[in-house]
Amino acid sequence: MNNKLDSGISRRRFLASTSVAATIGLLAPRHLFADDNGLVATARRTAAAANITVQKLRGNVSVLMGAGGNIAVLPGPDGKLLIDAGFAGARPKISQALVSISSDPIKHLINTHWHFDHTDGNEWLHSEGAEILAHVNTKSHLSKDTRVEGWNFTFKASPAGAIPAKVFETEQTVRLNAATIALKHYAPAHTDSDIYVHFTDADIIHVADTFWNGYYPFIDYSTGGSIDGMIRATEANLAKVTDKMIVIPGHGAVANKSQLVFYRDLLVGTREKVSALKKQGKSLDEIVAAKPTAATDADWGKGFRSPKDFIGDVFQGV
Ligand SMILES: [Zn+2]
Repeated sequence: MNNKLDSGISRRRFLASTSVAATIGLLAPRHLFADDNGLVATARRTAAAANITVQKLRGNVSVLMGAGGNIAVLPGPDGKLLIDAGFAGARPKISQALVSISSDPIKHLINTHWHFDHTDGNEWLHSEGAEILAHVNTKSHLSKDTRVEGWNFTFKASPAGAIPAKVFETEQTVRLNAATIALKHYAPAHTDSDIYVHFTDADIIHVADTFWNGYYPFIDYSTGGSIDGMIRATEANLAKVTDKMIVIPGHGAVANKSQLVFYRDLLVGTREKVSALKKQGKSLDEIVAAKPTAATDADWGKGFRSPKDFIGDVFQGV
């Protein structure tokens, strides 16, 4: 009980602090963000100090939370499979959490997309023996300097060990630890590299950053994301997800279909309101002042993206 409470508070603090950084990022001169005070450095630093919680789901699948994006883990005789790598700075705590699940070595890593909070740990996991599999666009973005305007940050090309050795374009099926794992690329949504990972036997799906449960999502227009793409991906998730399926979002608590429905309605409703106001000739500042997301701001706006950030992301795409 206490553990859960503590980790919840830590996560909120992490999200709140990065939100502050995000807000500052919109106001401050670009040169400030080449140093250690930028959103990216702050997120890495804060996550390294965060608590990691392990939540057992079913069919031997667990999820690690608190080290960046949610990490799914399937242990077994073929070695551990991880879905996403979290922040590199969280290595000691992730290692500890992984040992608490089983003594199997780390052998396989799948990245749900290229973003740093899901791939920062690629290099150390590879050094421990993980072969990395991802969408071809994840490899492409990690292989060269890639800028994210929404974070006002240019990521340097990743070291060789962090680059996925295996890639696919549309779909792939992986058979490991007596489980079948189906991977599929979304049309560009949050980025152009998003995939879902479906543990078909346990009926658990990791839907990458197409779904942020309880937090306004970030939409990375710099590498192919858009609000319309996010809505399309969410509709695709809803077409696939059943009432019994467990849904692991990229960020936020493990969810079910009803929470995904709420999220879809939030995306669609915000898009409609922002689009209507933009068509009336309103500026972004005027639309933010009109508070089109007022009903959810208290719950959803305290994370990585403030209401203003989220409205800005939607405004850009309508
Ligand atoms: Zn992401």
